[in-house]
Amino acid sequence: TVFNLGSINADHFYRLPHLPAPGETLAAQDYAIGLGGKGANQSVALARAGAEVRHVGAIGEDGRWMADRMTAAGVDCRHVAELPGASGHAIIEVETSGENLIIVYPGANRAISPGQALFALNTARAGDWLVMQNETSAQVEAAQAARAAGMTVVYSAAPFDAGSVRAVIDHISLLIVNEIEAAQLCADFGVTLQELPVARLVVTLGARGATWYDLAAGTQVSAPAFHVTPVDTTGAGDTFAGYLVAGLAEGLPPAEAMRLASAAAALKVTRAGTADAIPARAEVEAFLKA
Ligand code: ADP
Repeated sequence: TVFNLGSINADHFYRLPHLPAPGETLAAQDYAIGLGGKGANQSVALARAGAEVRHVGAIGEDGRWMADRMTAAGVDCRHVAELPGASGHAIIEVETSGENLIIVYPGANRAISPGQALFALNTARAGDWLVMQNETSAQVEAAQAARAAGMTVVYSAAPFDAGSVRAVIDHISLLIVNEIEAAQLCADFGVTLQELPVARLVVTLGARGATWYDLAAGTQVSAPAFHVTPVDTTGAGDTFAGYLVAGLAEGLPPAEAMRLASAAAALKVTRAGTADAIPARAEVEAFLKA
C-alpha cells in the first residue's frame, strides 16, 4: 500500500493569452474548476498507474466533491478528514504556450494534525510506502513514524522550503525535485547534487527528461522526455512522481519506472487540467508501444 500524506485543492483554472505582468488586468479566455493539489494529483496518478493508494489529508465542507472524485479515480479516502474552514485551493493561470503561474491557499491541508497522520499510518506495514509533498502539515511526524515502521518514504520538495526539507531529509529514502528545486536545495545545503544527504534523488528537467541518482551507490539513470506538443504542463511533475512510485512499488527497476513515469507525464502535458488529465495505465502502456 502507498500512503500519501498530501494536499487536496480545488483548482480554478484560467486560460490567458499571456501571463499577466505586475499591475496588469487581463481577461481570461476560459475558466474551469477541477481537482488538484500536489497530493491529490499524486494519489490519482498512483491509482491510475495501478497502485493501491490510501490518501491521508483534509478538506473543508466545501470540498466533499473532491474526495468523491478521488474515490472515483480509485483512491482510498478513509483517512481524508473533513475539518472546519475552507478547503485548499489554487488559482492556476495558463498561457497559450502552456507555461503556468500558480497561487495556492493551503486551507485544510495545513490543519492536518500529527495525530490524524499517525492514526492512518498505524494501519501500515513494513514494506509499505509513504509519499509526501510540501503542502500539508504533519510531515515530520509522519516521516519519523513511517521510517520507524519500516516504510519507504518519498518526498517531493515542492513548493520548495529549505526548513521543511531539512526537517524531513534524515527520514526519507527518495527525494524528488524539479530543476529549480534542485538548485535551491544545493544552494541551501551548500553542496553539489551528488553531495546531498539522501540515498536516492530524482531531478526532473521538464522537456529535457529526468535523472535518477543513487547517491549511495554513485550511479545514475537518465530518462529522456518523450517528444510531444505541450498544451498544459500543470501537474507534469506530480504525474511523474505518482507513476514513478507506483512503478517502484510494483518492483520495477528504476530505469523502467522512470520510463513509465516519463511517458505518463508526457501524455499529461498534451492535455489541459490537473488530476482529471492524468492518463490511465493502459493509455501509458499503449503510448510506450506506439
Ligand atoms: P514540474 O511540473 O514539477 O516542474 P517538470 O517540468 O520537470 O516538473 O516535469 C516533470 C516531467 O514531466 C519531466 O521530467 C518530463 O518527463 C515530463 N515533461 C514535462 N514537460 C514536458 C514536455 N514539454 N514534453 C515532454 N515531457 C515533459
